[in-house]
Amino acid sequence: MDTYQILDIESQHTSGVYAKQPLAFERGQGATLWDSEGNEYLDCSSGHGVANLGHAHPKVAAAIAEQAGTLITLFETFPNDKRAALMAKMTTLVPGLDRVFFCNSGTESVEAALKFARLSTGRTNVVATMRGFHGRTFGALSATHNKKYRAGFEPLVPGFSHVPYNNIGALEKAITDETAAVILEPVQGEGGVYPADGLCTTEGYLQAARELCSARGALLIVDEVQTGFGRTGKMFAIEHSGVIPDLLCVAKSLAGGLPRGAVLIGGAVKNLVPGAHGSTFGGNPLACAAALAALEVIETENLPGQAAEKGAYLMEKIRAIQSPVVREVRGMGLMIGIELKQKVTPYVKALQERRIIALNAGMTVLRLLPPLVITYEQLDRLARALDEVLNLSVEE
Ligand code: PLP
Repeated sequence: MDTYQILDIESQHTSGVYAKQPLAFERGQGATLWDSEGNEYLDCSSGHGVANLGHAHPKVAAAIAEQAGTLITLFETFPNDKRAALMAKMTTLVPGLDRVFFCNSGTESVEAALKFARLSTGRTNVVATMRGFHGRTFGALSATHNKKYRAGFEPLVPGFSHVPYNNIGALEKAITDETAAVILEPVQGEGGVYPADGLCTTEGYLQAARELCSARGALLIVDEVQTGFGRTGKMFAIEHSGVIPDLLCVAKSLAGGLPRGAVLIGGAVKNLVPGAHGSTFGGNPLACAAALAALEVIETENLPGQAAEKGAYLMEKIRAIQSPVVREVRGMGLMIGIELKQKVTPYVKALQERRIIALNAGMTVLRLLPPLVITYEQLDRLARALDEVLNLSVEE
């Protein structure tokens, strides 16, 4: 099938909730995608931050193939060798987070964390942040701030409030003795790539949130769905600050591209008894085997270190670009946002015409989330294309 046939079928039968691009991809390797005509594209989106290991990593592919021929599904009440190994591994990643709940996506991990917070504290309210994005199921959507995602779905879950991100005073005022949890991202992704103030220090926004939660009996939920697994230059972005949350939400690249989310759980979280929550597919051995392989690759190939070095290299090149439309360049590791003085869509399109796939974050931020295995030659190609595109006079 050629691109037009594929697009035609998808356009006819889609639910309608996606704006289809006029491109169809059939194959990927590392940071490269090939379309149905065999054209090569540089992927700087990683399927919305999933492909940290690159596309079709051979070790993940082999682990999936082997496990697919062994055992694909098993409900979590029955223990399994791959799941046990993954639980043992994941609970070594953050000191003190020594239990894990498995699910299938980012929004499900947030949903679980919110339910655990209510169950644990007996309180109902949640403090979230402006510009924050946590997913599209009702609980996660209630924690999400942007009207664009919420419109048409209200009334949402009661008890949620939103405070300005990076404003410690506002957080202090918002947390009461009814607050079950504070939920925040260490670097806001969809909201425009905004790192927490003082993220790489021991006296920043995250520490303040941690201290306020501990002092007032609320739990701290950190959403690392987009920042986790090396993206910001550490395994988790919280490592930049040393803050340990009570509940850590992860998903995206955890299983190297297969659907898999998880919540890592600390000692302060109570009342998680049989039947309190669950997921049919959550602990399936197939995704467990893929995640075990992915974590091994992340460690052996030092993907967090690669993200730190390549991110610094790319950031320097982007900051050197002289462009009348760039307002600010922000980010950490290979999570970079270029805020423009005008709408970003034409620039994403112009990059696409140069066979580079990038993302937006809101109306004015160009977001780059390339696979962490992207090569320096590919980074140079991206920087050259950005220089060209950010100096075009485009129609808004
Ligand atoms: N939380 C954050 C920080 C995210 O960036 C996302 C998705 O982009 C989600 C939650 C929701 O993840 P999913 O789309 O897997 O449900």
